[in-house]
Amino acid sequence: MITGTCLCGAVKLRINGGLHQPRYCHCGNCRKFAGSSPAAWALANAAELQHESAEGGVIKYNSGRGLRCFCGNCGGPVWFESLDFPEIVAVPLGIIDAGDVPSPTMHLWTDSKPSWCILDDSLDKHPQGPP
Ligand SMILES: [Zn+2]
Ligand SMILES: [Zn+2]
Repeated sequence: MITGTCLCGAVKLRINGGLHQPRYCHCGNCRKFAGSSPAAWALANAAELQHESAEGGVIKYNSGRGLRCFCGNCGGPVWFESLDFPEIVAVPLGIIDAGDVPSPTMHLWTDSKPSWCILDDSLDKHPQGPP
């Protein structure tokens, strides 16, 4: 089991399963949402995501291909709901507090990478989305 919380702790999430396909994303939407680049994410089965929230709940913003979900109290990112693949959610690795978190194995959307972000690792790099 994997657990995480937003910055203020009002949103608590639990994943009753594993995190898959961990990646660094350099796309412009992730950069703006995270306030940094890259953003580290992994995928989970939507049916395995449970959450509870207080103080403002979870707000969902449609960034185009999916819903960017964040805490209504502190604004911290909590998960992403894909419109193309509703059975999948993406979870930002930085909010995980306990459980097995896999290290990202690839960079996505490097075509959109800001110039100040230097990549000097040996991970697979994809100019756009996953192959
Ligand atoms: Zn919060
Ligand atoms: Zn992205």
